[in-house]
Amino acid sequence: MEKEKFEERYSRQILFRAIGAEGQRRLAAGRVAIVGCGATGSALASLLGRAGVGTLRIIDRDYVEASNLQRQSLFEESDAAESLPKAVAAARKIAGFNSEIVVEARIEDLVPSNINVLLEGMDVILDGTDNFETRYLINDYAVRNSVPWIYAAAVGSYGATLNVVPGKTACLACIFPETPHGMVETCETSGILNTAVSLVASIAATEAVKLLIGGAAQRQLRKTFWSYDVWTNEQAEISAERPRRGCRACGERDFVHLAGEGRPHITLCGRNSVQIHERGRPIDFAEMQQRLEGHGVVRHNEFVLKFWRDPYEMTLFPDGRAIIKGTTDTGVARSLYARFVGS
Ligand SMILES: [Zn+2]
Repeated sequence: MEKEKFEERYSRQILFRAIGAEGQRRLAAGRVAIVGCGATGSALASLLGRAGVGTLRIIDRDYVEASNLQRQSLFEESDAAESLPKAVAAARKIAGFNSEIVVEARIEDLVPSNINVLLEGMDVILDGTDNFETRYLINDYAVRNSVPWIYAAAVGSYGATLNVVPGKTACLACIFPETPHGMVETCETSGILNTAVSLVASIAATEAVKLLIGGAAQRQLRKTFWSYDVWTNEQAEISAERPRRGCRACGERDFVHLAGEGRPHITLCGRNSVQIHERGRPIDFAEMQQRLEGHGVVRHNEFVLKFWRDPYEMTLFPDGRAIIKGTTDTGVARSLYARFVGS
């Protein structure tokens, strides 16, 4: 974009002295990965896309459903009706309000086998996930590769966030050596207020801007694990200024989550659904549609194939991954998959 147009577009941010014209140019050169594009990921992508971060890589394994619309601010009813993958729907929406930036949609589940490719070349990694397994994986990658990342979580009326700057601050495993109790509840079990999401995303996005601008801005980074409950107004902060001695990740550099030992290929995924991710072969949707037609209702677009066979609903992705709704029994899900998709 020519200089004049660029400075007009971002004029209100450039007027903010800590950013200025030079800071805005650094944002334009910035590359941010957002892992998970649900409620928090949507808010992060929206804020950073409008702020002019030059490249956003949005990584999400899921598709849009009606129950997402209460809090996942990048999506519309038509996205849910089409079952669009969230990464694709997000990229389309962002292109509508900022066509000058690059948005890379990655319809994938972030796992040890693809993390090096999916997060390569990023300046900052942001957490839009809903589980500690993926957060520990991001933490191991970020510490090993010295890439800053920002933890962000919202559930119920509670939000929490932590900046991890490897080599300087504490990492996630310093603060939580094990998955914390009471943090394992999810929006599936406790519900979620969209205001808790906005709050935590606003703070995390601002910290990301400071990281991208660097210099004096980085001295303003928060050095605590911060949490707030928008319902009870309770606030807590734990110092994260220094790494914890003996930390498994940043102290001993034992990256067990990157090794991915014993990681299951079949997992519970939200309320009443199971994800199967064990076949590395691509699927031809047109051929699969024909094969399934006599067995239930089936339709597909270029991104997903959906197959309904009472009481189950199976969503297939081109890489062979599937999400099966209507059961929490991994055995039932696997046999359904084996019968209709093949093993
Ligand atoms: Zn650590």
